[in-house]
Amino acid sequence: MIIEGKIIKIAGPVIVADGMRGAQMLEMVRVGEQKLIGEIIELEGDTATIQVYEETAGIQPGEVVECTGGALSVELGPGVMSSIFDGIQRPLRIIREESGDFIARGIDVESVDKEKKWEFKPVAKVGDVVTGGDVLGEVQETSAVLHKILVPPTMEGTVKSLASEGEYTVLEDIAEIEADGEVKAVQMLQKWPVKKSRPYVRKLDPDIPLVTGQRAQDTFFSVAKGGAAAIPGPFGSGKTVTQQQLAKWADADIVVYIGCGERGNEMTEVLTEFPYLDDPKTGNPLMDRTVLIANTSNMPVAAREACVYTGITIAEYYRDQGYDVALMADSTSRWAEAMREISGRLEEMPGEEGYPAYLASRLAQFYERAGRVETIGSESKEASISVVGAVSPPGGDLSEPVTQNTLRICKVFWALDASLADKRHFPSIDWLQSYSLYVDSIEGWWTENIAADWRETRDQAMSLLQKESELQEIVQLVGPDALPEADQATLETTRMLREDFLQQNAFDDVDTYCAPDKQYKMLKTILLFYKESLAAVNRGVSIHDIVALPVKEEIGKMKYVPQEEFASKIEEIQAAITKQCSEA
Ligand code: ADP
Repeated sequence: MIIEGKIIKIAGPVIVADGMRGAQMLEMVRVGEQKLIGEIIELEGDTATIQVYEETAGIQPGEVVECTGGALSVELGPGVMSSIFDGIQRPLRIIREESGDFIARGIDVESVDKEKKWEFKPVAKVGDVVTGGDVLGEVQETSAVLHKILVPPTMEGTVKSLASEGEYTVLEDIAEIEADGEVKAVQMLQKWPVKKSRPYVRKLDPDIPLVTGQRAQDTFFSVAKGGAAAIPGPFGSGKTVTQQQLAKWADADIVVYIGCGERGNEMTEVLTEFPYLDDPKTGNPLMDRTVLIANTSNMPVAAREACVYTGITIAEYYRDQGYDVALMADSTSRWAEAMREISGRLEEMPGEEGYPAYLASRLAQFYERAGRVETIGSESKEASISVVGAVSPPGGDLSEPVTQNTLRICKVFWALDASLADKRHFPSIDWLQSYSLYVDSIEGWWTENIAADWRETRDQAMSLLQKESELQEIVQLVGPDALPEADQATLETTRMLREDFLQQNAFDDVDTYCAPDKQYKMLKTILLFYKESLAAVNRGVSIHDIVALPVKEEIGKMKYVPQEEFASKIEEIQAAITKQCSEA
């Protein structure tokens, strides 16, 4: 039976319909003559409150609301990778072809191309006993992504038939699975409701860093694979460059970028720039392993709410194939504002600053879907979703509820600071305000893979940077020359830490990526300079002579030394430090 109701009230993106008895919570509906996409968010008797994901202007009471029988879902299968979707997974490129720059309402376009044929290679065999998550076959989806066609999470049984190698559309049957005498056909295309997280066996400890090749992040404020980081982005602070650096260089296989209701022109920047970025690891387009989800602020507010769920569900789908996914959401503040607007329309009791009382739990539910996990399937794989959530607090006020609730959940905070950006200190990550609570858990990885004294080295550098801010207060009162020479040597070292280590030029061919061992050795070298210069000063050498040592220039240039030459060059620099300081 098809359930059909009638609109009785319209309040912006929220409408109320009656005659909806038998409908389900979170069921997807089609609203009005234009068949706008909506979702039931409240049900009482035969009255349903519906959040509409498209512009509702012009809709009249009395128009029909049709239930679809299913929850708001995404289509998952070959063809998702490289796509640019809107919040409800409509491919923007195709929409633009059909309806121009402004999205026509109720437009019905396929999320994934149903006619395209993909070269399918079977992996399983007839007779195999399989369970959800097992690999049935593979499709080379793009140059970068081998798409694993999995048994859907809720299915298990014996493979009764399996397509032979050849070309198939996503809707053609590629396998039959039999369980309890019942045979079910499987296609490459699967659907999954966006608000429900996809299952995994268990979460693994966050003890492997997501290596980004960015020194400030990796050495000082590392996010673990499967972890979550928050990044506030005051305008002009370098947020876009930071995100693009992560997309390019983080050791993730797949990037999902959610552009959620940022100012229209900023989003256009993402939409026009991202597709032209090269994947530095292969030289192919970065889009070969990227999915973009874009909701600009001129799209209806409710669609912003959906885009976050669409994005994380797609991320989970690739995670289930065994991949490490990096997901960026920009900005979660706009998402929260959408929540606030919908909540206001529902006349719910407002919480802090008008946000609904469930703001914290919604944010937590989203970040909770990050993680490094053991995937389902007989041969379990380790895979992860790491999340970088941008927050854009009004007026840069970090005490507002969205930022505060985000910081309570995320264990990493990269405090981008506009005043550093003004001074051309990039990335403008404020080293005193930022933090990572993963440092203890990832220490083992650094110790094993890079150096036994990594933690000590990192901590010593950090405490010098903290000392610098104390010393600078004194300098402001009495001037630098009044400081004891040993403290002046400290300041010379911290200047190096800031300029020669923390500053990293995203646009320099070499400096754009710094391998972990290079990061460690650079830090060691600066700390060696500290030790030797301090010893010299204590022997009575004037700080002015230390500051004038030619090796300082070499230290300044070490970040530009290519990886292949770095090991020998750094030994030369270290030898020069020792020699010049002892002869000073
Ligand atoms: P936002 O997105 O916060 O408005 P952008 O990311 O566009 O800011 O950065 C503004 C400008 O700052 C860039 O055009 C670039 O010149 C400079 N910049 C930002 N980050 C870096 C970096 N890591 N290295 C070099 N320059 C940078």
